[in-house]
Amino acid sequence: MSSINQSRRRLFSRKKAQAIHLPWVDPNIEFTDLCTRCNKCIETCETQILIKGDGGFPEVDFSIDECTFCQKCIQVCAEPLFDLSTLQAWKAKAKILDTCMAHQGIWCQSCKDACDSRAISFSLAIGQAPLPNIDIEACTGCGACVSPCPSNAIRIQETESTS
Ligand code: SF4
Ligand code: SF4
Ligand code: SF4
Repeated sequence: MSSINQSRRRLFSRKKAQAIHLPWVDPNIEFTDLCTRCNKCIETCETQILIKGDGGFPEVDFSIDECTFCQKCIQVCAEPLFDLSTLQAWKAKAKILDTCMAHQGIWCQSCKDACDSRAISFSLAIGQAPLPNIDIEACTGCGACVSPCPSNAIRIQETESTS
C-alpha cells in the first residue's frame, strides 16, 4: 500500500510544483495522498474555476475566472487537506510575461481594470506604451487579472519561481 502511495507521489510530484489544487491546502500534507477525487469541490466552486486536472485531482484554472476565496470548496471537503491559520490562500502571485501587449507597444490595461486589490500599476514612459508592474505585497493571487488579458500573458505562480 505504501509503495502505491510512493509511486503516486512520484507520478504527481512534478505537476504538484506547478498546479494549484485548492486554496489553503496544508503545505505539510501530500495533496494527492489524501484527496479522494470525489469532485465535491469542483461541483461547489462558485466561480467554477476548479477542473479535473492530472490524475483526476482538482486544479484551479484561472483562464476561466478568479478565486473569490469563499472557502466553499473547503467546507464541502471531508478530508484533512487544509490549514486555515494563514491569511493568504496560497503563496502564488501574478506574474506578467513578456508576451504582454504593452511590451509590443500596444496600449492595454485590461489586467489593471480587473484587479480589485489595485496591485497592478502602469509606468508611463514617453514614446512607448505604459508597462504593467505588479505590487507583490498587494497581490492576493486571486487570478482575476488572468482571463481578461487578451494575450494570455499572466500566470499565477509561486513567487520564488522566475519562469
Ligand atoms: S472535495 Fe476534497 S476530497 Fe473531494 S475532490 Fe475536492 S479536495 Fe479532493
Ligand atoms: S474558495 Fe470559492 S472560488 Fe475559490 S476555489 Fe474554492 S469554491 Fe472556488
Ligand atoms: S492576481 Fe488578483 S490581486 Fe494579483 S494582480 Fe491579479 S487581479 Fe490583482
